[in-house]
Amino acid sequence: MNAQAAPAPRTAETTLDVAALRAQFPILSTQVDGRPLVYLDSAASTQQPQAVIAAVSDYHRAAHANIHRGNYRLSQHATRLYEHARAAVARFLNAAEPAECVFTRSTTEAINLVAATWGRANLGPGDEILLSNLEHHSNIVPWQMLAEQTGARIRVIPIDDAGDIDLDAYRRLLSPRTRLVGVNQVSNALGTVNPVREIIELAHAHGALVLVDGAQWVAHGRTDVRALDADFYAFSGHKLYGPTGIGVLYAKRALLETMPPYQGGGDMIEQVSFEATRYAAPPTRFEAGTPNISGAVGLGAAIDWIESVGFERISAHEQWLLRHATERLEAIPGLALKGRARRRSCVASWVMEAPAISSLDLGTALDLRGICVRTGHHCCQPLMDRLGVAATVRASFGVYNTLEEIDTLADALIEIADETRARQARVAPVAETALDYPGPSADSPAAAAAQIADDFELLPDWPTRHEYIIDLGGRLPHLPASMQNAATHVQGCQSQVYIAARAMPDDPERVEFLADSDAELVRGLIALLQQLYSGQRARDILDFDARAFFARLGLDGHLSMNRRNGLEAMVQRLRQVAARQVAADA
Ligand SMILES: *Cc1c(COP(=O)(O)O)cnc(C)c1O
Repeated sequence: MNAQAAPAPRTAETTLDVAALRAQFPILSTQVDGRPLVYLDSAASTQQPQAVIAAVSDYHRAAHANIHRGNYRLSQHATRLYEHARAAVARFLNAAEPAECVFTRSTTEAINLVAATWGRANLGPGDEILLSNLEHHSNIVPWQMLAEQTGARIRVIPIDDAGDIDLDAYRRLLSPRTRLVGVNQVSNALGTVNPVREIIELAHAHGALVLVDGAQWVAHGRTDVRALDADFYAFSGHKLYGPTGIGVLYAKRALLETMPPYQGGGDMIEQVSFEATRYAAPPTRFEAGTPNISGAVGLGAAIDWIESVGFERISAHEQWLLRHATERLEAIPGLALKGRARRRSCVASWVMEAPAISSLDLGTALDLRGICVRTGHHCCQPLMDRLGVAATVRASFGVYNTLEEIDTLADALIEIADETRARQARVAPVAETALDYPGPSADSPAAAAAQIADDFELLPDWPTRHEYIIDLGGRLPHLPASMQNAATHVQGCQSQVYIAARAMPDDPERVEFLADSDAELVRGLIALLQQLYSGQRARDILDFDARAFFARLGLDGHLSMNRRNGLEAMVQRLRQVAARQVAADA
């Protein structure tokens, strides 16, 4: 479909005018390499409407001063704006009072705050913290750190294959030793909507408190901390159409009153002398130093904005998108959807099994078509382990997404699978007996580098260079399965990488190697490394500055950080082998 001539987006049987709503988000009308941006990563961060951008910029232009300090009107006004935002948060969560809402940097900081203050003051050896198998690392690691410090123990609430929490197992885990249950309201990796009301009721019956990680819920449905009876509730502004760097910890007043401060500094005190300090009352006690004032103002504006759209319309539209996405993705042969929970928020997670395409490759190929999705473990490695996958590709929707964007995604996936099938058909598997180590492609790594750089110069832009690298990878012979083992495995790459390097049998001053990966782009990088290094003198390999060379090729700016680290790890492995040879010769 021609994007310019696209008809008005189809809408659900609701009154949501998606075209008008999209027009409020400046970034959604931008283009990527001449294609419209298709943003399907709202679970990582939502985009911001003009109302939020304007509120933040108006604040900076006309209202900025430090708060709670000045007795001049500008500072008093800024203080009012900050506290006004807190009141908006309290209304939004249905908290009993604004003082129960502490501004933090993010969900992550909110959880760390609870672990560091309530946790350290209240937990000891033998106490148990229950966490679901669905948790984000930010609702796991702070509790592990706390457990190390206090001797408390973490126990995991299992999930079933569909991605639902096993409530019977949860009931069995609850005991008088349980002090805290940590659970997300929505899983960021699978979209599971958890029955938090029931989870909280059961925990309270055993005298345990509950921290709800609401990061993935607040933008999709109404939140009522009092109806839930949540003890702690955390969320981030940047997943609620607001700015980054601002988040909220809600906690019941009775808990906040007893909690020691988190950080020390200005603003959180009532009186300080060198002998003793009296701390301020909540929420200020937990907001040491100058807070993110403009972030709070932006969050307040985001709340006003989302309430003006209305959760009924948001939810109807998003559920309609989710149904359509599920139908389209399910219909793609070889694609395995992950997560079939009874109730799901707008997240679709999958693995491309046939043809096998690593999630990172798929993400890169989609990016080249202007489609933003998330790939990897989604900060949920324990969950990935439970699902038996290293990574998935995740598309997540916001209220601004359209059915057409989901079709663009599905069509692109079909196209990428076809291309991969064609490429994979071109490389025949090698027999172990036919192992053929590539000889040197030039006199030295530096000379090989000059040749590669010449080739790259003829390719006008990154998409063609990327295609060139993928093509090199497509011609790389596979490493026999028996050579893919712990000894050849390279740590530090997000995809699987194996390098079998050795001194050349008839010229041990030289190093040769074979390598393989499950990711096509990595296979392409391996082919480049072979051109640079294989068959070269160990000394020359050590003398060559690979990092500078890859920067010169422009890979620095285009490879993701994970890829760059992976490339670095491969180079390090080859340099180690070369160094060993040099040492053996000396
Ligand atoms: C994003 C997310 C977090 C972490 O949020 P930050 O803003 O990065 O602190 C925690 N839990 C869930 C479920 C999330 O989706």
